[in-house]
Amino acid sequence: MSNQKNRVPAVEGWFVADGEAALLGSQCNECSSYFFPKETFFCRNPACRGSEFKEVALSQRGKLWSYTNNNYPPPKPYMAPDPFVPYIVAAVELDKEKMVVLGQVVSGVEIADLKVGMEMQLVLDRLYEDDENEYIVWKWKPVTEGN
Ligand SMILES: [Zn+2]
Repeated sequence: MSNQKNRVPAVEGWFVADGEAALLGSQCNECSSYFFPKETFFCRNPACRGSEFKEVALSQRGKLWSYTNNNYPPPKPYMAPDPFVPYIVAAVELDKEKMVVLGQVVSGVEIADLKVGMEMQLVLDRLYEDDENEYIVWKWKPVTEGN
């Protein structure tokens, strides 16, 4: 028996859960707009009538656009660790897609460490765990010298 828990995605199909961290979005075949989470029925670009999309791995880096402290547990069905630990939520504009993606900031980072416009990197980290599994989600981490 090993104590190693299974690493499973907390949400299915939103990101690559093994190896390199990457969010999975979709790109409209007609107008090339990017969407996250994935769009599969109609293009949200009002000037486009596209309804076919391909799945694409999105940029792993972007610029910090906004951030805030989250001091309350999110409503169900969203899962949060119990006891609840406040965390920072960052809105990051992806380098290539110019699309803003929300995510939790990795623990250990303080509000004072963050500055709008700074470079952020996508990482995979534990959201919560139970007896058998570790549930993995994407988080944002400031890019510092040497990483
Ligand atoms: Zn489109």
